[in-house]
Amino acid sequence: MPQPVDLGELNLNMYDEILPSEMEELRQQAEDLRGLRILHINATPYGGGVSELLRSLVPLERALGLDSNWQVITADKSFFRVTKAIHNALQGAPYKLTKSDRETYLAYNSLNARDITDDYDVIIVHDPQPAAICSLRSDIKAKWIWRCHIDTSAPNSEAWEFLYPYVSKHDAKVFTMPDFIPKGLDGKIEIIAPAIDPLSPKNTTLPEHMARQLINWIGVPKDGPLICQVSRFDPWKDPLGVIEAYHLIKQELPNVHLALIGSMALDDPEGWEIYQTVVDVAKKDRNLHVFTNLIGVGDLQVNAFQRLADVVIQKSIREGFGLVISETLWKGTPVVAGRAGGIPSQMAGGGGFLVNSVEETAEKTLILINDRKFADLEGSRGREYVRKNFLVTRLVRDHLQLMASLLRVAV
Ligand code: UDP
Repeated sequence: MPQPVDLGELNLNMYDEILPSEMEELRQQAEDLRGLRILHINATPYGGGVSELLRSLVPLERALGLDSNWQVITADKSFFRVTKAIHNALQGAPYKLTKSDRETYLAYNSLNARDITDDYDVIIVHDPQPAAICSLRSDIKAKWIWRCHIDTSAPNSEAWEFLYPYVSKHDAKVFTMPDFIPKGLDGKIEIIAPAIDPLSPKNTTLPEHMARQLINWIGVPKDGPLICQVSRFDPWKDPLGVIEAYHLIKQELPNVHLALIGSMALDDPEGWEIYQTVVDVAKKDRNLHVFTNLIGVGDLQVNAFQRLADVVIQKSIREGFGLVISETLWKGTPVVAGRAGGIPSQMAGGGGFLVNSVEETAEKTLILINDRKFADLEGSRGREYVRKNFLVTRLVRDHLQLMASLLRVAV
């Protein structure tokens, strides 16, 4: 049975201080939807981008006067094994969906569907795990939205054919980028880009001395320029390419430091292999630092690194949206990033360089390290673009607009 998630209460005044005009617009928009009963359903209350996003979005909707709620489905390991395989398959991985996988998926969707009450005007289902609930509860009169957070541009056909009848039952389907819409899907389709919360621990203002103390505490001294990459140890994020670029930079700036900060999942053997390779290289170099969430490098430390680095690198070869770009630019730090996925859309207003190779990564990073005036200018241009396009207030606005259009309320 779906479980409600504990949520913090938000003080809108804090957003007013940073985003006065956006907040005024949002308040007006929300006025016409006051009391609207919304239910968000997803698979997990912690870990991963979706729960991070809901932790900001739902309290903001509530503070604006909407009756927004968040529930997570309950299921056992067998279900999450199947949905993880479906998740990877929707992003293009090979997958043979067995009869038993289909039964497991549907059994847990049915169990969770049974307990959803008919108390909502809008139900937003996030990602593939709960996607069949809408079909199983056609008696509920709410408007149903399927919010897909993954890259479904080239899905494995077996997984997509299985999911398609359930997905297509929703009144609207929402994707992160136009490229992610699977072929053949019709009906109402919206594009809503993700966003970051400027007040979350990862993005909130951190005084420089405190950021410095956090980084110094874990052993990164301030005796040379600092570059870093914050991302999973995944071949598509190319951490080994970042190290190669660092070696080229080091030839010109011998005192440069590189910090690789990655979150690790216990069930990701490939991630552990790459991590081990990176650690082996780092052992021989006192200016190369490797940190993970498992040794206590969490949101505040990520915040500090993104804030204090001279340049943040995100050398992705393939990428979903790549929210680390907005996180970094919001702190006014310039980036050098691979031309992949959603990265160029976040850098359309400036913020550094898009690159395609190790050599280019090194070359552009050196330009930014050596010309601080230019780096600051790029950083502030990037921050302004993020302020207009990738903060959670814009995300709430897009959601309100979509819900109003489904309910035919003018906002
Ligand atoms: N992240 C983190 N700690 C780490 C590495 C990554 O908190 O050690 C966060 C990062 O700040 C970002 C998210 O994980 O919020 C990664 O999202 P992104 O869209 O950039 O990439 P994904 O991992 O979803 O492909």
